Amino acid sequence: MKTIGVLTSGGDAPGMNAAIRSVARTGLQYGMKVLGVMRGYNGLINGDMIELNMRSVSDIINRGGTMLYTARCKEFKDMAGVQKAKETCLKAGIEGLVVIGGDGSFRGAGDLSSIGIPCVGIPGTIDNDIACTDYTIGYDTAMNTAMDMVDRIRDTAQSHDRCSVVEVMGRNAGYIALNTGIAVGASYILVPEIKPDIDAVIEKIEKSRALGKKHFIVVVAEGIGHAKEIAQEIEEKTGIESRETILGHVQRGGNPTVTDRVVASQMGYHAVELLHQGIGNRVVAQKDGKIVDYDIQEALKMKKELPMELYKVAHDISF
Ligand code: ATP
Repeated sequence: MKTIGVLTSGGDAPGMNAAIRSVARTGLQYGMKVLGVMRGYNGLINGDMIELNMRSVSDIINRGGTMLYTARCKEFKDMAGVQKAKETCLKAGIEGLVVIGGDGSFRGAGDLSSIGIPCVGIPGTIDNDIACTDYTIGYDTAMNTAMDMVDRIRDTAQSHDRCSVVEVMGRNAGYIALNTGIAVGASYILVPEIKPDIDAVIEKIEKSRALGKKHFIVVVAEGIGHAKEIAQEIEEKTGIESRETILGHVQRGGNPTVTDRVVASQMGYHAVELLHQGIGNRVVAQKDGKIVDYDIQEALKMKKELPMELYKVAHDISF
């Protein structure tokens, strides 16, 4: 391939820049022209792209967000939009495309591959909710940010003998909640994979209170929500002053951690290696510590489960 494109699509995640850098540098090493497509599939439909050289991706490995911006593109969900994108690719000479995003973005990448533009997906989302991969770019940074924030909340919860109910991101998955909850020593973690039982939360708090505990942290996953109502119910039933905090978008920003930078660099490299071999319609993944790739349609059918043994550890050691 002589020219490839790279874009970021869907929600942003720290480490996307490191992936863009890796794609650009690997492509350039192969003598390819590398085009950065702006604002997801919108840029592909409108022909909004910039040529990347070795220096245009300097000083981004350490930065959150995405230098190519990201967006959701309704038009691309229809084959007419995908066809328009193909025409832009043909005009710009793009023979292969790297798509950094989530499942929705991979569906689009599959559609574009099916009409002759080979695409390779790289999983980029803080939620770690992409089934084919053990790890998604941004996940580690988001968990560390959430942990830092809850550590701060703990200081004030402790000073006031309060219960803090903290809602963390994760969409419909409990990965961020589970790991952050363990890391901050939460009294209880509510994840969407398990039916919420507020009475069990209250029972746990009462048990800990009987053992001398005076301040409490309850981590609630975004997929459960209702942090305010949960805090109110805890206060009503236990008499412990309770406050909710919804961490929100702070978890999507910030400098990527070592893990996110390294995995993003590996995945970007692997994606371009595939395109260099003329292989498309694949998603790059991390499985058992190794970088692998799967057929996009197969990857989209896969399922992954929250590690229940970790959930058990979390609850068995919180008192
Ligand atoms: P995240 O979930 O992390 O935000 P995502 O990639 O799953 O990432 P979506 O909003 O689902 O985010 O998808 C991003 C873009 O991918 C959409 O705006 C659209 O352009 C394209 N896309 C989504 N679903 C499809 C589909 N079924 N067919 C073609 N393109 C799609």
